[in-house]
Amino acid sequence: MLPESALDWLVSVRRHLHQYPELSRAEAMTADYIAARLAELGLPFEAGIGGHGLVATVRGRQGGPAVGLRADMDALAISERTDLPYASRHPDVMHACGHDGHMTILLGAAMILQQGDFAGDVHLVFQPAEERYGGARMMLDDGMLQRFAMRQIFGLHNWPGVPAGTVVVHDGPVMAGTSEFTLRFTAAGGHASTPHLTGDPLLSGGYFMTGIQQAVARSVDPLESAVVTVGSFRGGFAQNIIPQEAELTGTLRAFRGETLLHLRARVEAVAQAAAAMAGCDWSLAFDAALCSPVVNTPHERDTMRQAAKAAGLTLGGPMAPSMGGDDFGDFLTQIPGAYAFLGNGDQGPETGLHQPKYDFNDAAIGPGAALLAQSALLALAQS
Ligand SMILES: [Zn+2]
Ligand SMILES: [Zn+2]
Repeated sequence: MLPESALDWLVSVRRHLHQYPELSRAEAMTADYIAARLAELGLPFEAGIGGHGLVATVRGRQGGPAVGLRADMDALAISERTDLPYASRHPDVMHACGHDGHMTILLGAAMILQQGDFAGDVHLVFQPAEERYGGARMMLDDGMLQRFAMRQIFGLHNWPGVPAGTVVVHDGPVMAGTSEFTLRFTAAGGHASTPHLTGDPLLSGGYFMTGIQQAVARSVDPLESAVVTVGSFRGGFAQNIIPQEAELTGTLRAFRGETLLHLRARVEAVAQAAAAMAGCDWSLAFDAALCSPVVNTPHERDTMRQAAKAAGLTLGGPMAPSMGGDDFGDFLTQIPGAYAFLGNGDQGPETGLHQPKYDFNDAAIGPGAALLAQSALLALAQS
């Protein structure tokens, strides 16, 4: 649907974005670059929404409804290990999740929509801070849906291992909701030979480590999926000292918001018990906002599948949902929508998401753009 010249332009945009990746909440250059490309396409936009977020609009004929299409903007703290001529020029920062490709796809979708004849508006949502800090929530809190009313929203993520351009639209759950915690045990500390004179933060940490493993095994319905992972456990510095502090951090994942809240309650209960067992004080902090699970709504899921067919793309699947997270789910707590996996092809070993040899597959730009544009057009036509 896009002429060769447009695709060439989009590939150059994608590779530019790849060379200048920025971490979550620091996407200033990226936002400026996207703003310049939107201006080049003649699209009106507002910048600075929820941090470095932008919303642009492709206007159709008057009198129709509005729908949203979303792409994420941020990169990761990873040192790129590809030999690509357009490899990252920012040390230790890399577009290793393909958000460079997602932004490019959204520009491509806008170009297709500009050629079309439709009633209504399509809002293009460029969202910062997907990997960390909850950028979707930041945009919502900044009044995005009040300023750009939209009835539905569609998004996608490239998916290594699925053939390039093939589309998978899950029935319901797509990605897990996530919550992160930081837990501290504290005590007076002291000589290793006088444990009776102090609490032991390391021992409380140990009790917590083993105790929290029972949260999923013993308190979540076995037919549900959930994960509790303790990712770091720091404390102590010498063999003959009981330290004053131990700190543990971890992640909770589930496909239902209630299950996440339940796991949070379990973390709190087990932390309290572990502190008591080894005579420690404790403090616990969760990330400010839960990242909601991504669960496709039935009507929009069907719209996206029809869109894939209408765009002449291969529909793959069924596929199991991913325990990875995407805060696109936070938009879905407000309005219905759907989120597809877009094949990134098989690029060899160590080229999965968040790996230093990963690269977004430019062959997926055209299919991704067509999928999003068609989804918007079908959704608008259904009014
Ligand atoms: Zn990622
Ligand atoms: Zn991602």
